[in-house]
Amino acid sequence: MKEPIYQIDDVKVTRVTETILTLPKNILYPDASMSAEPMDEPLDLSIHAWLVQVNGKNIIVDTGIGNWKPRSFSKLFDQLNNPFLERLSQVGMHPDDIDMVLLTHLHTDHVGWNTVKQGNEWVPTFKNATYYAPQKDLEFFFKPAGEPRRMLFDDSILPLIVNNQLRVIPKEGQQLTDFIRFEPTPGHCEGHMAIRLTTENNELLFTGDVMHHEFQVSNSEVSSTFCLDVALANATRRRVLNDALVNQTLVFPAHFRDSSAGKIAEDRNGNRMWLPIVPTQLIEVD
Ligand SMILES: [Zn+2]
Repeated sequence: MKEPIYQIDDVKVTRVTETILTLPKNILYPDASMSAEPMDEPLDLSIHAWLVQVNGKNIIVDTGIGNWKPRSFSKLFDQLNNPFLERLSQVGMHPDDIDMVLLTHLHTDHVGWNTVKQGNEWVPTFKNATYYAPQKDLEFFFKPAGEPRRMLFDDSILPLIVNNQLRVIPKEGQQLTDFIRFEPTPGHCEGHMAIRLTTENNELLFTGDVMHHEFQVSNSEVSSTFCLDVALANATRRRVLNDALVNQTLVFPAHFRDSSAGKIAEDRNGNRMWLPIVPTQLIEVD
């Protein structure tokens, strides 16, 4: 497979793929029956991390599902064995050289490579990194609704706390550095954040699960089966898409396939479209 690399001003962004999941459209989008499009077609979802290199810092946005994580609630995520770290190495990065890990939210397909199994223990994959996670999503694990997902906290979050590597992003968001900002984008889950990178001439927005597939660019009122608060998720998606259209933001979602990055465009009838960005370079990985 080929990973796209985007050079945008002084920022280099590389996709690192973990796996591709395929779901029928009517399973991913159970509320989309009003759509005129066929509903039984399979949709591919890419599970990937974004490696961001800027100002001598190596940053990872979201960390996929992870290997050997027990996830009894879904076969899609249970006890996987994917060559994610091998691909990270093939794009030229060693885990020890990662400085920051930015998490848009704390779902199973975004926190997995936070840790790796060492003997019977889970230890941080990126041992020299500071990890940043939304406070509201941390709190969720200790609410009754979060109880069935507590194993995520135990194997993918708690080891970061034990090693003093976790910092919390408050619910109103945070300007982390001169050029990195966490922005609240709730709905998919309570604590969901988009992560904005500002360069000399561009705005890059890592949108996590504000949308899962480009189908939602033209159907912004459709939320996925994984979204907690559908009305809020829809309002957030509309706001993010409007802003991205007006400001010509470079959008880096967590699950789009192919080039995985794009801009939002509008045709003369006001229909929204996903316009993939042409990668600066492609790098072959296994
Ligand atoms: Zn996701």
